[in-house]
Amino acid sequence: MNYALITGASRGIGRAIALRLAQDGYSVIINYNTNMAAAEAVKSAIEAQGGHAELLPFDVADGKAVETALSRWETEHEGEHISVLVNNAGIRRDGLMVFMSEEDWHDVLQTSVDGFYYVTRRLLSGMVRARKGRVVNITSISGVSGLPGQVNYSAAKAALIGATKALSKEVAARKVTVNAVAPGFIATDMTADLDEAELKKTIPAGRFGQPEEVAALVSFLCSDEAAYITGQTINIAGGLS
Ligand code: NAP
Repeated sequence: MNYALITGASRGIGRAIALRLAQDGYSVIINYNTNMAAAEAVKSAIEAQGGHAELLPFDVADGKAVETALSRWETEHEGEHISVLVNNAGIRRDGLMVFMSEEDWHDVLQTSVDGFYYVTRRLLSGMVRARKGRVVNITSISGVSGLPGQVNYSAAKAALIGATKALSKEVAARKVTVNAVAPGFIATDMTADLDEAELKKTIPAGRFGQPEEVAALVSFLCSDEAAYITGQTINIAGGLS
């Protein structure tokens, strides 16, 4: 069985990636933080399309919780390892820098950057030993170009791009690829409070993207055909970037 762990898979982009990787034949591990009902619904949707899925809740920013959950998973799945990791969990806490609280700074950085560190470090050795693995980091065009009002989020997402480049070089010879996907505006809960009509005018494609469009790109990066692509950040933003 090939296992794929998607962090933050209860909603939005992570949910779409979970459904897509299940269609690709992976046994999907649905991580989430608090929203069990939504995560259960993703599991049911995957099973309804004939796939395999299980839930694995933990806060990606809590190193002990990550260790406990992944150790338990390994005990329950003796001899198995996770060959695909999509670091998707992320949050936004926007505000101008002069007004930004320490809490909003740290929460965003810890979820994206510490979350990447804890989960990736834990799973990498299994991939390296197996000489097979895919790590996909969901960053943002905010981390590529920088967006006003998002200094914390841009910093977190740019850090992921740097980590992607460095880690890809550490593990390329072991047949593990590490790439980043940088979406623009995608229609999810995270963007539900934005003025879509106004923002659409700034997007060359004239619309927000759909989570399934991001999932299709992640699916390709996880495929055998993408074995020679590593250390890259691929924008998926309707021309905005
Ligand atoms: P979303 O709809 O708000 O969903 C966020 C997901 O992350 C949920 O499943 C949530 O779990 C989970 N999560 C949040 N904090 C977590 C934590 N500490 N530990 C584990 N899971 C956690 O967000 P989205 O729009 O799908 O965004 C997904 C990723 O894409 C994020 O990294 C985001 O920064 C990035 N992105 C989004 C856009 C966009 O336009 N939507 C653009 C660029 C990049 P619960 O359900 O349990 O809360």
